[in-house]
Formats: sequence, structure tokens, C-alpha cells
Amino acid sequence: RKAAFAALRDLPPETKDGHRITLMVNAGLRDDVAALDLTGADGIGLFRTEFQFLVSATLPQRERQQRLYREVLDAAGGRPVVFRTVDIGGDKALPYLTVEAEGEENPAMGWRALRLALERSGLMKAQARALLEAGAGRTLNVMFPMVSEAWEFDEAKALFEAQRDWLVQRGKRLPNEVRYGAMLEVPALAEQLDLLLPAIDFLSIGTNDLTQFLFAADRANPKLAERYDWLSSSILRFLRRVVEPARAANVPVAVCGEMGGRPLEAMALIGIGIDRLSITPAAVGPVKAMIRSLDRAALTAFMTGLLATPPRDMRGALTAWAEAQRV
Ligand code: PEP
Ligand code: MG
Repeated sequence: RKAAFAALRDLPPETKDGHRITLMVNAGLRDDVAALDLTGADGIGLFRTEFQFLVSATLPQRERQQRLYREVLDAAGGRPVVFRTVDIGGDKALPYLTVEAEGEENPAMGWRALRLALERSGLMKAQARALLEAGAGRTLNVMFPMVSEAWEFDEAKALFEAQRDWLVQRGKRLPNEVRYGAMLEVPALAEQLDLLLPAIDFLSIGTNDLTQFLFAADRANPKLAERYDWLSSSILRFLRRVVEPARAANVPVAVCGEMGGRPLEAMALIGIGIDRLSITPAAVGPVKAMIRSLDRAALTAFMTGLLATPPRDMRGALTAWAEAQRV
């Protein structure tokens, strides 16, 4: 099977009826970028910049951040990289930064990610400058985690733009283009898409956090791991209600949570209109094999019917369809 996936590396993730899916990988360390060549992925759809902070005994200075981002862009060799600004705080606590957050009763819903970064704006400004300088002469893709209301995206983008002006005044070279995206992982944001979509260049759905908030079920609690299924009609209907207006507004939508790395889940996502996935590198082979055996038009029709009157066992219904179609 391994050899079969290796042979797939140079073949496009295209469905039988000619629909090209963008298949990217998630990364967080400099060495993860090697996964691009190993898997033949289209780029890095989620680079978790907090990894550098988490493996560091002290706050990484701007120069060290910049060096990492430049090395990552160099290693990616022109393939797009989406840098997510730091998602720290809560359970990813940093002893040198988040003492104030200690003792939170619900760290996942706490003072984390963009909430922390907008208040500790020195941290965010340093990261913005590091990213903007590392991206000089290229396209820079930045996305913000845990956006809960549209104005938080606006504030984060404004902070970046102010740093860009600062660098311009000092005669620094800048990216040719900066594209700004929001992660949708807090359900409330789905009710402000009319405000958000005109402001963003792309949307990325973080299904790990999104599903824990939709089901009020801690993603790290083993007692709940089996209770709710990613293939629940609640999740798929919710995602479809996000995908449709985004597509209508011509805003690209990706899924970057672990859900997209499982072939059956990825199939269901494609069936509701997702055509960009960012997944763990080991999943690229299996997911690409699934895509290449898929008739997307038939799947879309099947999913429309399924979500109109969903059976209790969505997974069973999707599995049966996939088997009948030899997906
Ligand atoms: C997510 O929440 O789905 C996500 C991709 O981000 P993380 O797993 O880093 O929270
Ligand atoms: Mg998340």
C-alpha cells in the first residue's frame, strides 16, 4: 500500500469527472516542509507558528521568527504557505507569557490565540514584521486563529497593515502581495459571514475546535472521543451553510482540521462543496487515492439527498455509498 501511495505522488488529486481538489499539508516545524516533496502536495495550508514558541525556553525574538519563516518559504520553493499567527494560551500555555491565564477553568474557551495576541499587541506586531520581512518579494498568506467576531479579523489585519506601513517608511522590501484569511473554528463567526466575507481573501475551517464547540465536547477528553461523529449531519449541515455563501462570494474555503485527513470524511467534505483540504502529510496518499476514484457529481447529488433526510447512521450510509461506487 505504501508503494501504491508513493506512485500517486506525481498524479494530481483530481476526481474521475475532472474536478481538481487542492491538497495541502499541515506543518509547524522547519523540517515538516520536506513533506511537500515527499507527498507532492500543493502547498502548506496551515503552518502552526506557535510550535516555535512552544519548543522555546524564552520568547523567540523577531529575528529568529523571521529566519524560520524565510527558511520555510525557501524550502517550499514557490508553493503557497499559509502562516497562522500564534495560537497560544489556554492549553498551549507558555510559562513566559501566559501566567495571567493560569487557572482558567475552560482553557479552550479562554484567553488564547487572537484574543491574547490582540491584547499583547507587542507580540503580534513582532510576528507581523517577521512575516512581512520574510515574505519580501513573494506572496505572503497570513491567517488568524479563533476569530469569533468579524471585527477581530479587521483589527488583526489593521495591525499587520500598520506594520507594513512602518516597514515601507524604513525602505524595507515587502511582499508583492499579502493575502489575509480567517479561521472559522468558533461557531458564532458563521453568523457574521456577511460581515466577514467581503473583508477576507480566504477562509479556513478548523474542524478540531469547531466540532468541540458545536457539540460542547472537549476535543481532548477520551471519554467523549467516540460519542459524536465528524460525519454527523449537524456538522455537515453546518459546514455546508458556511461553504455556500463563501463560494457565492468567490472566497476560497479550505478545511484544515484533522477531519479532512480521513478518506471518508474528506469525501463527505467534497460532497458539500469543499475543494481545498490541508491535512497531515501521512494522509495525503490515502485521501488522494479516494479523490481519484470519485465521481464528484454523483457524490454531490447523493449528499444533497442524504442531508435532506439524514439517517442516524451517517457514517454507515456514506460507507455503503463509497463501497457501491468503488471509492
Ligand atoms: C483546528 O482547530 O481544527 C485547527 C486546525 O487548529 P488547531 O488544531 O491547531 O487548534
Ligand atoms: Mg484550532
